[in-house]
Amino acid sequence: MNTSIAATDDEKPIEYTVRYGDREFRYHLCYLSSHKKRSVRVHVHPNGRVQVDAPNAEPLANIKAAVQRRARWVLKHLDEIEQRNRYVRPNQWVSGESMRYLGRRYVLKVMTEPAARRTTCKLIGGQLRVQGQDLNPAQVQKAVQRWYRERAETVFARRLTLMVDRLPWASDIPNWRMVEMQTQWGSCSPEGSLLLNPHLVKAPTLAIDYVLLHELCHLEEHNHSARFYSLLDRYLPEWRSIKEKLDGEAELILR
Ligand SMILES: [Zn+2]
Repeated sequence: MNTSIAATDDEKPIEYTVRYGDREFRYHLCYLSSHKKRSVRVHVHPNGRVQVDAPNAEPLANIKAAVQRRARWVLKHLDEIEQRNRYVRPNQWVSGESMRYLGRRYVLKVMTEPAARRTTCKLIGGQLRVQGQDLNPAQVQKAVQRWYRERAETVFARRLTLMVDRLPWASDIPNWRMVEMQTQWGSCSPEGSLLLNPHLVKAPTLAIDYVLLHELCHLEEHNHSARFYSLLDRYLPEWRSIKEKLDGEAELILR
C-alpha cells in the first residue's frame, strides 16, 4: 500500500527476466485479487520500472507468454526513457543551478561570507541562497538538503492537517515520518503510520496533496480496491493527471 512512483497495484511484487534477441529486461509481476481486469497488462512506468498486472488465477506460463509478446514494445519504451534521462544530470551544487521547491524553480546562489558563523540556506526572492565561510559543493549540498528536509517537515505537517480535516474517517493526524526513497513517494503501514519521501517537497502542492490523500485513504481502505479509488475520485477528482505528471518528473525530483 504505497504511492509507488508510478505503480498503482503493487502488493507483493515478484521479479522475472525476459529475453528478447540479445537484450533483456526485468519486470515486477503483481497479482491482482480484487480486480475486475481479466487480462494480463504490461506497463512501463516513467522511471523505467516494468510492471505486469495479472489476475490471481492466471497461470504463470500464460503471463510469461503475454509479456514475451510485448517485449519489443517494452524495450522501445525503455530506450525512450533512457534517451530522456541522458539530459538529467546530477546536481553540481554550484551557483546558477536550478533547484525545485513546491513545483517552482529557484536559482542556487552560493555566497562566501568570511565572517559567517555558520552555513545558512534561505529562499530569497527567486534565489535559494547558501551563505557560509569558504563553501565547497559538498557543504552546499548538505545545507540545501537540510533545508529541503526542514521545509518538507513543515509543508507535510500543514498539508496533512488540511487534508485530515476533509476526511471523515481520519479524526487525527496519523503518525508519520520522512524517509528518502527511490521508488516510492509514500507508504502506509497496516498499523496506519505513514512514511513520506522528503523529495516530494520539490513537487507542486497539489502533487503533495495527492500522495497524502492516497496514503490517508488507506486508513479507510487498506488495499487498492475499487472502493479505494472511488475515495480518491471523490476527494481529488483530477488525481490521475496529477499522478502522471508527478511520475513523469520523478527523475528530476529524486536527485
Ligand atoms: Zn497505495
